[in-house]
Amino acid sequence: MSKEQIIQSIIDGIKEVLPGSGSPNASFELHEPRFTGNELNYLKQCVETGWVSSLGEFVTKFEKDLSNFTGASHAIATSNGTAALHTCLMLVDVKPGDEVLVPALTFVATGNVVAYCAATPNFYDSEPHTLGVNVQKLREYLASNCRVVGSDCVNKATGRRIRALIAMHTFGHPCDLAPLKDLCLDFKIRLIEDAAESLGSYYKGVHTGLFGEVAALSFNGNKIVTTGGGGAILTSDPEIARRARHLTTTAKVSHQWGFFHDQVGYNYRMPNINAALGCAQMESIGQLIENKRRLAARYQNVFNNIPGVRIFKEANYARSNYWLNVLLLEKADVGARDRVLAAANAVGIKARPAWTLLYKLPMFQTCPRTDMAGSELIENSLINLPSSPHLGKH
Ligand SMILES: *Cc1c(COP(=O)(O)O)cnc(C)c1O
Repeated sequence: MSKEQIIQSIIDGIKEVLPGSGSPNASFELHEPRFTGNELNYLKQCVETGWVSSLGEFVTKFEKDLSNFTGASHAIATSNGTAALHTCLMLVDVKPGDEVLVPALTFVATGNVVAYCAATPNFYDSEPHTLGVNVQKLREYLASNCRVVGSDCVNKATGRRIRALIAMHTFGHPCDLAPLKDLCLDFKIRLIEDAAESLGSYYKGVHTGLFGEVAALSFNGNKIVTTGGGGAILTSDPEIARRARHLTTTAKVSHQWGFFHDQVGYNYRMPNINAALGCAQMESIGQLIENKRRLAARYQNVFNNIPGVRIFKEANYARSNYWLNVLLLEKADVGARDRVLAAANAVGIKARPAWTLLYKLPMFQTCPRTDMAGSELIENSLINLPSSPHLGKH
């Protein structure tokens, strides 16, 4: 097949999966929210009772819903996912001058939060079968570049302590957490999960976010469940949960009328009006994920017969929420990737490339990193396909 034919067959394949994609005004976003349950009811309750801000029963209810759904002992709702992740770093004592291991293939927030702590990201490579951390490669990097001194992992080249590692479940697909956890134990590195995209995704039957000491979720408008803007911290450690609550509520010491704050805290609490939306959304999360998995299966079926490409499939250990479906060109080819993107967007199919790898961004260009063969391969061959849950209805 010529390159031209391959590109055309990809567009035809996507159209076959998306209902109504032939019509002239059809438009398919990557991921659109739908409000078909109690959303308006609960929002109305907030407005009518006046409980719209940082106190109110929906926040408590939403946190309970998240605990029940994920199995985390504690969930602390925050103003957004970035705030949750920033707090996670503070909770595992990332200090100014530390390094934090971060995937190069991630949304920019994962790197930004390290900078918020006056620490430096040290970027690691991902691999195409999981879209997550290449654990073996990272182990080799740490073995030859770092030294464990007492309870610290020290980067021999920079002299800085590598305090933590952020694992990320790319587009909802769980990375290989068990060997990663072993690696962190061996090198005395604290494990955080950026589970912003993976609500409803499981690793060997356990919800993502429960392997690290702390994890961050996001409820931004394009995520699987939305609160408008919002996030949450998950942890099984009651002391960490207590500190998380304290840090995200301006470190105010509870008192009937007094204002005493015992450290620099943050205004990171989720408002009640956002939690109200979240409570309604959580009532249909089972259906949402079912629809998304059905849509993923349709993409897989159609593209099974199209040469030159594959649709990303969850690893054997994983049950994925398929937040975003991923098409991978067999051969990394930015030219072909961009022509598919152009042809798809020309007919209203809002396909997107992966994020620019973080070490290529101006603020992160001088950060330490491993070799990036896997991440480069993914960046140059990956296309995200429209994945809104309603597209996967019966
Ligand atoms: C969405 C997202 C975040 C940040 O969440 P916000 O709620 O948008 O602040 C962080 N990391 C990843 C991987 C994300 O996809």
